[in-house]
Amino acid sequence: AQLDTLDIVVLAALLLGTVAYFTKGTYWAVAKDPYAGSLANGAAAKAGKTRDILEKMDESTKNCVIFYGSQTGTAEDYASRLAKEGSSRFGLKTMTADLEEYDFENLDSFPEDKVAMFVLATYGEGEPTDNAVEFYEFISSEDVSFTQGGGVSEKPLANLKYVAFGLGNNTYEHYNSMVRNVTKFLDRLGANRIGTAGEGDDGAGTMEEDFLAWKEPMWKHLAESMQLQEREAVYEPVLEVTEKPDMDAESDDVYLGEPNKNHLEGKQKGPFNAHNPYIAPIAESKELFTIKDRNCLHMEIDISGSNLSYTTGDHIAIWPTNAGKEVDRFMNILGLSEKRHMVISVKGLDATAKIPFPSPTTYDAVVRYHMEICAPVSRQFVSALAPFSPNDSIKAEMTKMGSDRDYFHDQVAARNYNLAQLLEFLSQGKTWDNVPFTIFVEGLHKIQPRYYSISSSSLVQKNKISITAIVESVEVPGASHVLKGVTTNYLLALKQKQHGDPNPDPHGLDYAITGPRNKYDGIHVPVHVRHSNFKLPSDPSKPIIMVGPGTGVAPFRGFIQERAKQARDGETVGKTMLFFGCRKKAEDFIYADEWEAYKNDMGENFEMLTAFSREGAQKVYVQHLLKQRAVEIDRLLQQKAYFYVCGDAANMAREVNTVLGQIIAEQRGISESKAEDIVKAMRNSNAYQEDVW
Ligand code: FAD
Repeated sequence: AQLDTLDIVVLAALLLGTVAYFTKGTYWAVAKDPYAGSLANGAAAKAGKTRDILEKMDESTKNCVIFYGSQTGTAEDYASRLAKEGSSRFGLKTMTADLEEYDFENLDSFPEDKVAMFVLATYGEGEPTDNAVEFYEFISSEDVSFTQGGGVSEKPLANLKYVAFGLGNNTYEHYNSMVRNVTKFLDRLGANRIGTAGEGDDGAGTMEEDFLAWKEPMWKHLAESMQLQEREAVYEPVLEVTEKPDMDAESDDVYLGEPNKNHLEGKQKGPFNAHNPYIAPIAESKELFTIKDRNCLHMEIDISGSNLSYTTGDHIAIWPTNAGKEVDRFMNILGLSEKRHMVISVKGLDATAKIPFPSPTTYDAVVRYHMEICAPVSRQFVSALAPFSPNDSIKAEMTKMGSDRDYFHDQVAARNYNLAQLLEFLSQGKTWDNVPFTIFVEGLHKIQPRYYSISSSSLVQKNKISITAIVESVEVPGASHVLKGVTTNYLLALKQKQHGDPNPDPHGLDYAITGPRNKYDGIHVPVHVRHSNFKLPSDPSKPIIMVGPGTGVAPFRGFIQERAKQARDGETVGKTMLFFGCRKKAEDFIYADEWEAYKNDMGENFEMLTAFSREGAQKVYVQHLLKQRAVEIDRLLQQKAYFYVCGDAANMAREVNTVLGQIIAEQRGISESKAEDIVKAMRNSNAYQEDVW
C-alpha cells in the first residue's frame, strides 16, 4: 500500500477526495520515504493504483501472488513468509496482495503459468476478515460471473492454479470456515488446487507448526506442477535499509515512533481507526486486586473530541510500546546499541514490497514501536537466521533447532524465549554482528494492537471507555525469566506513573512512557475502537444470562451499567443474571462494591452468582453454578433469554457450552444431541453470544 512522491502529487491534483482515499486501506500512504526516487519504477508513474491483479502482476513481472485475508496481521505475515520462501527457494517472482485492494472479475483470465495463493483467517463466528468481505461475497455468490466466461462456462476458473492455507481456532464452531468455503467455491468454479488446503489452529496453539507441516508438501506439489527447480535458499532482501549519518534524529521529518504523517506533524487528525490511532488521555486508572503479587487494571480512556464512538459490548484496541529493557536487549545482542539513534530510511526493492512503518526513522524507533520483538520465536525464522550466526557451532545449533521440531520445543519454546533472549543464550552474550537488519523488518511481525472488551456502557459514559485488564506475568518452572506481557505491563507502568508512584516501573521494564517526542506525556495511550457483534438485546425487558469469570466480566460490567441506568430511568428491565468466578473473595473479586450498587437500581431483577475456586476444599467454577441453577436457566431460555459467555476461549467457554447443552437435555428430557442442536440454533439466532480470547 505504498504511494510514491509523484503519486501523491498527482492524486492531490486529481482527486478532491484525497483524504477519503488515504484512509481507505492505505496504511502508510502518507508516510512514504522521501528519499526514494520518485520515478524508481514504472508503476510509480501511474496515478493511483490498479485494482486489476493481472495488470499488476504483469507490470511488476510476477508469477505468484499471495492474497491475504487478515484481521490482526498474522495471515498477512504468513503471506509474506510464503512470498519470501517462494522466491528464495524456487525462484518464483512473488508478491503479496491485500484482498481488499483488488477486483476478482477477471480471475478467469489468470494465466496457467502463474499461481495464486490464498492465506485466509476466519474471524469471529466463521466470518471473513474485514479486508476479505468483498472477495468472499463475490466468490460465494450463486451467480458469480467473470469477464471472459460471463457465467456461461461450467468451469470458468479452469486455468487458475491455486494453493490455500487457513488460520482458525478450533474453539469456535465454524472452525476455519473461510478457507474451507473459499476452496469449495474455487473448486466448484473449476480452479485447479495444488495440494491440500492447510488449516492452522490457534485454539490448540499449533498455528506455526500446522503452517510448517502444510507448506512442505505444498511446495513439492507446486514445484512439480510448475516445473520449478528448488535451490539452496539464500536470503534475498525485499527491503533496503540505508543509514543516514548526516541526518539528525531530532529533525522534524524523522519518525521517532509516530504512526503516520499527521502524528509526525503534531496534529492528530481523524478518522481514527486501525490504521490511525487516537492518542487518548487516560482519565483515571486504578488497581482492582487487593493481593500484591497479581495486578488487574481498571482504566478510563477519554475519547471526547476525537469523534470516536462506541456502543456497549465493543472492543478497544491499545497500541503498545515495547519495554525499554527488551529494546536494549535486542539492540545489544545485534551490536546496534551504539547507533540506535542513527537515522535510517527504508525502501522497497520492488514495486510490490510493503514497508511496514514510516521512514525515515531510527533503529530505536523501529524496535520500540513497530516490531513484535517479545513474541515467541518462529522455528522457520531460526532457520533463516542460521547463516548469519557468529560462528559455525552456533550455526549448527541454529540449523538443528530450525529443522527439529521437538528439539526446538525443548530448547526454545518451553523456555518462553523471545528472539533476543534466544540469541543471547546461544552466543553467551557475544554480539551477532552479521545479521542484516532487513531480515527482522521482513521476518518479525508488526507489533499488534491488543484488544480489550470495553467494560463500560456507552449509555452511561459516552466519552469514556473503561477497560479491565489482567497484567500478564507468566512464570514457567525451569525458565530463567518471568515473561511479562507487552501491553499490560505498559499499561501498568502508565497507571503507576499517573499515581506518582516513586517506582513507576514495578519490574524495571523501563517503558518510554511519554512516547515519541513526549507526545504521550500527561498519560496518553494510542487507541482505536473496533465494533463488535456482542450486543445486549435491543429490548431491555428480555432476560439475559451472562457467564464471565475473571476479566471475562469486563463487557458484563458494561451491560449491567446499562441496564441499571435503564432501570433508574424507569424502563422495564428483565432478569439479569451474572455468573462470575475468581480465586478468592478477598483477593480478586473485582468491582465487588459496584455490584451491590447495581442491585439497588435493579432490585431482585439483578442476581449475581459467584464461584471462588480457591476458598473451600473443592474447587468451584462458574460451570458448577450453572448446573445448580439449571431449573431457572432453562425457564429463562424458554422465555427467550439471551445467553452470553466472555473470557477464556480454550477451556471455560467450551465447557459452558457443553454444560448448557446438558442443562437443556435434563430439564426438557431430551437427548444431549438434540440439546446441542438447540444450543447451535441459539448461536445462529444470536441468542447465544461469545466474546472470547
Ligand atoms: P503479550 O505480550 O501479548 O503476551 C500474551 C501471551 O502470549 C503470554 O501470556 C504468553 O502466553 C504468550 N507469549 C508472549 N510472548 C511469549 C514468548 N516469548 N514465549 C512464549 N509465550 C509467549 N484481556 C483482558 O485482560 N481483559 C479484556 O477485557 C480482554 N478482552 C479481550 C477481547 C478480545 C476480543 C481479545 C482478542 C482479547 C482480549 N483480551 C483481554 C486479551 C488481550 O487482548 C491481551 O491478549 C492480553 O492483555 C495480553 O496482552 P499483553 O500484550 O500484555 O501480552
